[in-house]
Amino acid sequence: MFEKLTEKLLGVVNTLRGKGKLTESNIEEAVKAVRMALLEADVHISVVKSVLEGVKSKALGQEVMRSLTPDQHFIKILHEEIVRVLGEGQSGFHFPSLPPGIVMLVGLQGSGKTTTAAKIGRFFVKEGHSALLVPADVYRPAAQQQLKVLAEKAGVFFFEPNGEKDAAKMCENAVAEAKRRGIHRVIIDTAGRLHIDEELMEELERICQRVNPHERLYAADAMAGQSAVQTARAFFEKVQLTGIVLTKADGDARGGVVLSVKATTGLPVKMVGTGEKIDAIELFYPERMASRILGMGDVLTLIEKAESTIDIKTAEKAAKRLEQGEFNLDDLREQFKQIKKMGSLDQILGMIPGFSSIGKIPKPEINEKQMKRMEAILDSMTPEERRNPKILNGSRRKRVAMGSGTTVAEVNTLYKQYLEMKKMVEKMKKGGIKSILRNLKGSF
Ligand code: GDP
Ligand code: MG
Repeated sequence: MFEKLTEKLLGVVNTLRGKGKLTESNIEEAVKAVRMALLEADVHISVVKSVLEGVKSKALGQEVMRSLTPDQHFIKILHEEIVRVLGEGQSGFHFPSLPPGIVMLVGLQGSGKTTTAAKIGRFFVKEGHSALLVPADVYRPAAQQQLKVLAEKAGVFFFEPNGEKDAAKMCENAVAEAKRRGIHRVIIDTAGRLHIDEELMEELERICQRVNPHERLYAADAMAGQSAVQTARAFFEKVQLTGIVLTKADGDARGGVVLSVKATTGLPVKMVGTGEKIDAIELFYPERMASRILGMGDVLTLIEKAESTIDIKTAEKAAKRLEQGEFNLDDLREQFKQIKKMGSLDQILGMIPGFSSIGKIPKPEINEKQMKRMEAILDSMTPEERRNPKILNGSRRKRVAMGSGTTVAEVNTLYKQYLEMKKMVEKMKKGGIKSILRNLKGSF
């Protein structure tokens, strides 16, 4: 959905390529072009202004880092500003420790509430929770049937309304049932109208009074553009929304709504629906979204982390090897070099798309002194040993320990940590990164 916008923004960035430095006049020109691109993508005017002001003051005010060219510097700033308007950090769901956690979905008819209710149910199940779907759209039997079918597909429980015609009462019954059966999450699908309607609002209010949902999510149809976002306000007043689920982000909408929604509603985007299938939903990460909008793999957000100097080429090469599931002690040695320059290993790994979502990244607590010793160990190995660590038998380890002035125990520890990281990398290759990348490409 960002193809056009991405193309335009990168076009702007490209005009700065080869320039010696950022000057007032070339910044001015680039900012103008960015404004055009954003407006054409249907980004709300207030957001456009905010982004441009930020970009301008940063571009003018900052020394260009020695390691970055003007175009890289500009894209870094643009990235920062887009992240800022998208809302920093993943906001996640907030439930009390005592189940059930209750989610209510509201929105206009056709915005994707019913589909999203089932998708979120599935999401919770994947997280290891049980979930109960409640068909509180009492006006259309077809809607209840739709949810029932989806519940089955999603592998979540469905609350049988048994003819209950009062939505609030039904929700109360459903929550009672969840408590009785020890179900962790209750997800309420509500009715929608074509327009905001007093009667409906009152019904939603009554549901809130009866069961007090912890998460009150507005389903905003990305295809509907700005108008979808405007409507959120009316709901906000009545039911105190806690967040937004952006639906149909896989469509050919111009993308502006994604950039505008946080700023115009003040609500965090919690999830994004990216297709009709039950699994087509993901948590919303401003960082990643900004990277997508700017057409950079998350690998390229390495630029962002470059506080002083980082060898992007080497990092990209390393990332590519990791993507292919390859990781030997040469790679580890290279990582150490990068770490010294820019931070922690998990930070570097975290920039590879999907890595952080796969599982806990082994995070060796390494201080500088230890790191020197580990580097010494790696340096004492032969290239063949680093490329093919399997051959490191007892006598080789002894030799390495001697050569590096360390102990065999330390060599063993390093080897063990290496194996753990390798396992992660392989796991990532197997299910993780491929499907995640496919997903990313398919959805935006
Ligand atoms: P509701 O009236 O708000 O409950 O909306 P529905 O859940 O019934 O969805 C309306 C239509 O939008 C259905 O045809 C869904 O399949 C479709 N839909 C919902 N979410 C998505 C999405 O993320 N992507 C796409 N492509 N279609 C979606
Ligand atoms: Mg519905």
